[in-house]
Amino acid sequence: MVRAMAYDLPADENVTAAQTCCQCNLCDYFSCPAGIHPRMANLYYMTKLREEGIKHTPKAEFTADPMRPCRQVPSGRLIARLGLRKYNRPAPLTEELLSAGTVALSLQDHVGAPAIPSVSPGEAVKKGQCIADVPEGSLGAPVHASIDGVVERVTDTHIFVRAERR
Ligand code: SF4
Repeated sequence: MVRAMAYDLPADENVTAAQTCCQCNLCDYFSCPAGIHPRMANLYYMTKLREEGIKHTPKAEFTADPMRPCRQVPSGRLIARLGLRKYNRPAPLTEELLSAGTVALSLQDHVGAPAIPSVSPGEAVKKGQCIADVPEGSLGAPVHASIDGVVERVTDTHIFVRAERR
């Protein structure tokens, strides 16, 4: 596809293999030794082919390339290449209960209208208590306190609740 683009070839039956690209981005980030962008070339032809109404026809008989096992990407190398090695640590599930000092509860975690706060700074709230509600006649979701505590502040976007120390 990169060569087809370089020669400005038209979007026709000769380039429908572009439609088999899943846009995983592995070529950009890992595999392409020339530092070019096969994914973008595929995307270019995918878009043009869609506009032309041309679809890729898969082969009736399909057999995997015998070199397939040699083309697999070692995940350790991929993680290193993406600069994610420092985050690749064992992270087992734990039963440990973490206690928050302060929580910030968003008034809009969805596409609907932001919830309207029904509490004020200094007010004590209980875990599960509704602290912001859906505006009249709107679609949205109410917000509930996730901890026992005191409302620290209310902004246009969040309600901050400080944990009650026992
Ligand atoms: S061309 Fe690139 S983006 Fe497309 S499937 Fe292959 S590796 Fe993934």
